[in-house]
Amino acid sequence: MSTGEIHHRSCNLCEAMCGLLIEHDGRGVLGIRGDPDDPLSRGHLCAKAFALRDVYEDPDRLRRPLRRLQSGDFGEIGWDEALDEAASRIAEVQRSHGRDAVAVYQGNPSVHNLGTMLFAPQLVRALRTRNRFSASSVDQLPHHFAAWLLFGHQFLLPVPDIDRTDHLLVLGANPLVSNGSLMSAPGMRTRLRALRQRGGSLVVVDPRRTETAAVADAHHFIRPGTDALLLAALCHRVLHVHRPELRHLRGVVDGVDALGAALQPFAPAAVAAPTGIDAAAIEAMADAFVAAPRSACYGRLGICTAEFGGLAMWLVAVLNLLTGNLDREGGMMFTSPAVDVMARTSRGGFGRWASRVRGAREFGGELPVAVLAEEITTPGEGQVRALITSAGNPVLSTPGGQHLARALQQLDFMVAIDIYRNETTRFADLILPPRTGLEVPHYDVVFHSLAVRNTARFADRLFAGDPGGRDDWQIYAGLLERLAPLRGPVLARAAGLASRRLSPTRQLDFALRTGPYGGLGGRRLQRGALSVGALRRQPHGVDLGALRPGQLPARLQTEGRRVDLHPEPIAADLQRLAASLRPAAATSVAPDAEDDFDLRLIGRRGLSDCNSWLHNAPSLMKGRDRCVLLLHPDDAAQRAITDGAEVTIRSRVGEVRAPVRLSREVMPGVVSLPHGFGHGVQGASLRVAEAHAGVSINDLTDPSAIDALTGNAVFSGVPVQVRATATASAASAPG
Ligand code: SF4
Repeated sequence: MSTGEIHHRSCNLCEAMCGLLIEHDGRGVLGIRGDPDDPLSRGHLCAKAFALRDVYEDPDRLRRPLRRLQSGDFGEIGWDEALDEAASRIAEVQRSHGRDAVAVYQGNPSVHNLGTMLFAPQLVRALRTRNRFSASSVDQLPHHFAAWLLFGHQFLLPVPDIDRTDHLLVLGANPLVSNGSLMSAPGMRTRLRALRQRGGSLVVVDPRRTETAAVADAHHFIRPGTDALLLAALCHRVLHVHRPELRHLRGVVDGVDALGAALQPFAPAAVAAPTGIDAAAIEAMADAFVAAPRSACYGRLGICTAEFGGLAMWLVAVLNLLTGNLDREGGMMFTSPAVDVMARTSRGGFGRWASRVRGAREFGGELPVAVLAEEITTPGEGQVRALITSAGNPVLSTPGGQHLARALQQLDFMVAIDIYRNETTRFADLILPPRTGLEVPHYDVVFHSLAVRNTARFADRLFAGDPGGRDDWQIYAGLLERLAPLRGPVLARAAGLASRRLSPTRQLDFALRTGPYGGLGGRRLQRGALSVGALRRQPHGVDLGALRPGQLPARLQTEGRRVDLHPEPIAADLQRLAASLRPAAATSVAPDAEDDFDLRLIGRRGLSDCNSWLHNAPSLMKGRDRCVLLLHPDDAAQRAITDGAEVTIRSRVGEVRAPVRLSREVMPGVVSLPHGFGHGVQGASLRVAEAHAGVSINDLTDPSAIDALTGNAVFSGVPVQVRATATASAASAPG
């Protein structure tokens, strides 16, 4: 029986944006259930939704600023004192060592928070540092790169029209667990069931038989890191056996013949051995994609985080385009969100500067985070001496975590805007914790623009939070205001904007009113123009309709509004890919017999995991420990490893120990460890997470391994060795 009031809200914990009905008594949460009237999620929610209550109640969550004491521990200080000190230390580092001496890292939760989304970019721009980093370069940079190169804007990202397609080809993604990533599609199980019921088919390509693969019509194991080869072969088949079908884009696409010539080395028979998929199966995969009335190829993290991740994402888009499945119903489509993200963000750019030590190229104003540690530890002009992190835990989520942890201790100053003292923020001099979750207004600016249906939903804050606390945007505005007098006129202008106190809700209202449904800038809704007020009156959210076909070429932002299928960076990378087919090629894909790194490590994500940051939520940490290594029984037998034993996993850069689970879920030669674990370190304060510490996969991943095209970290197919952990007596036995 209901005893409390109902607060309507969409969940901000992952990209799915599930509509929620939160029962509360004004002080605490009494219950959470899915909102059946939400036009996107239709009642779906997952177990993680209950973490909203856990985070709200979490005794480990910081509510007041912390300053590091001489003893090394932390003590609480006031907000004004904390913001004054942060601003003066940042300004001092830039005054003494130049603007690039201050680096910024933005973690994944940043994009799920309205205030951070609107205000953090102002601070980053005002600092004018080239050392900008984010979680994008560990999981999605290739998507943005392909969109920028093909369509002219890094955020013009097509999503699968999953509710109308007849054939879905999924590579390196597990949407049944994620509910879509760069594709907000809550209730994926229901959507996939509907695909089957209307006679459609689902094909999954993955080195692990994932939850999605388990319900697919067909699943193909693929050797990690070889997806670009498979995609090249699929495009080869389309171009050389079938006829390209460009449909309404025929008049604007260049380079089809040049691409066909460049793909000559990638016939299905040529890539069969390295991918582990036989040529007939590749041909059948291409033929089925072409034959279906409406097909969509969707690739995600597993193919992004590879040595040829940028090329793989480019080829995903090209396969959709060449088969006439781009920008059409049932294919890959562009969204029409209520807030026009593209109009409010930079188109992107590439190689306008490079990292100081390694020369890694910038994309979209950011450098690959894989270079952050070396930029801190390598002396010289431009050395990073101070770091600002926002909602991030790069020690757990970026390659070479231990290396980064050591580097952070060399900084002159570090400030973390974060709600936890975690494995990264423990090294900060100051931690500034914002109100969060149920304590702040919410609108998903980013993920409404990646959803499989056009919708809009806004919620005011449910709880007031700490009366002396600050919202995230107030922290950024506070820093900008204080930095302005300490810095030059550029910062003063930015601070002026922030100090006008145009709150995120008011900025959102302006963006909605001037957006395509707002009545001030574009098409007017019959029911009335969209605004924050209009959304408040429709607390279940507003349905703006199915994705609309035929948005290209009008929305192209390329030169001359044309699409080039064989531009220079792709041409060069196709040659690099072709070189990897040669027998002696040294790639992460080829077994490294010399060092005995004879297995390939991939990550995975569980239903109750949300990157590295929800492991302190008690409701998500029930049951058996999840941080286990999956190992194929044949590989286990060769190494005399038994189910449940502890194994030592060694890579070129590190070593961890974990319990093993024997499973045919992974293909022979491949092992899998979840990401986001590795808690229980000194200085962090996450009591629930500590009890389920696990080990960090990023103590094994190699920061020197990045996709040469985009700079994205290479996580898929890390060469490792796995051995039964030697017991103390065996280890000390004379040998
Ligand atoms: S699927 Fe994502 S958005 Fe939906 S309830 Fe779970 S965590 Fe929240």
